[in-house]
Amino acid sequence: FSTSVINFGAGPAKLPEEVLQEVQRELIHYGTTNISVMEMSHRSADYAFINDSAQQAVRDLLNVPDNYKILFLQGGGTGLFAAVPLNLISETGCADYVVTGSWSAKAAKEATKYGKVNMVLPKTDNYVDIPEQSTWNLSPNASYVYYCANETVHGVEFPFIPDTRGIPLVADMSSNILSRPVDVSKFGVIFAGAQKNIGPAGVTLVIVREDLLGKAAVTCPTVLDFTVMAKDNSLHNTPPTFLIYVMGLVFKWIKRNGGVEGMQKKAIQKSSIIYDVISSSNNFYYCPVKNSFHSRMNVPFRVGGPNGNDDLEKEFLSGAQKLGMLQLKGHRSVGGIRASLYNAVTVHNVETLAAYMKDFYQTHK
Ligand code: PMP
Repeated sequence: FSTSVINFGAGPAKLPEEVLQEVQRELIHYGTTNISVMEMSHRSADYAFINDSAQQAVRDLLNVPDNYKILFLQGGGTGLFAAVPLNLISETGCADYVVTGSWSAKAAKEATKYGKVNMVLPKTDNYVDIPEQSTWNLSPNASYVYYCANETVHGVEFPFIPDTRGIPLVADMSSNILSRPVDVSKFGVIFAGAQKNIGPAGVTLVIVREDLLGKAAVTCPTVLDFTVMAKDNSLHNTPPTFLIYVMGLVFKWIKRNGGVEGMQKKAIQKSSIIYDVISSSNNFYYCPVKNSFHSRMNVPFRVGGPNGNDDLEKEFLSGAQKLGMLQLKGHRSVGGIRASLYNAVTVHNVETLAAYMKDFYQTHK
């Protein structure tokens, strides 16, 4: 099993080859069960083991304190855009949203269905930085403060954890979860769709502080109710069993590869390789995001100058594709190129892209 392609997709994204091989080996007969995980009752002892060990792995990897529950939900990141206000906003009827890119903008819009949303930052479509915290318009009566730790489309990543002066902090970590150590005790809720750093699409990891349970709106759908799901150990109804199994294998892979410290080290190394090529290209490659907010996970850039050159970008993508470098096209809303460098992407993969970028620059500048 070896592949000559390199997957730079933004999500669903590359999974560790070792994990895919393990899934392949166990696909038809899981352990001694003689059946596939896909065919197994979610009430069986074998599945209980899969569920509990995946939960425990998150606890170990992120050092999650005892007063937090770990849930596996459905509905993706978008499901959580609704679940967060449905579970938390009724406390005061309003919430603060820190919008630094299109995903936090979508979350804020969804929340307006359930309560009053206060925009912490001035409105912009030009997401290139994160204003100083001293300028933020935080409201004293917010039920929670919401932000997106890494904006997957715009490539804006928080280098710090916001200080909310005691108000519960909610973070969408869909695209940078388990890529760095995180002090979980600073958060009320952390959530992440699996399909970037930790598994296949269709399962969402939620970490919630226990004192925030029991506050859901009466209209909150049962499958999104943190309290019900916590009480029933994410087994209130049929969970996405196979996806949770694969995610559990990814967690073990992260453990074997140095844990979140190991992932962080590699993330810094990989992203620096690409940002260095960009910054030494005399604006031939151009990333609009200010340096201190450069995402280590998603590197968006234009080819042929700050506004991009369509023909050059097409040529860049088709040349990359010929060399086996896949899914480098930028999000349809911003155009250009986006290299996603999630945990499973290797340093060698990134060096291959960097060499191609340098070569393309030399022949097209
Ligand atoms: N948040 C972030 C940061 C994302 O990148 C995405 C998807 N790319 C979402 C939320 C939405 O996730 P989903 O497609 O699983 O609803």
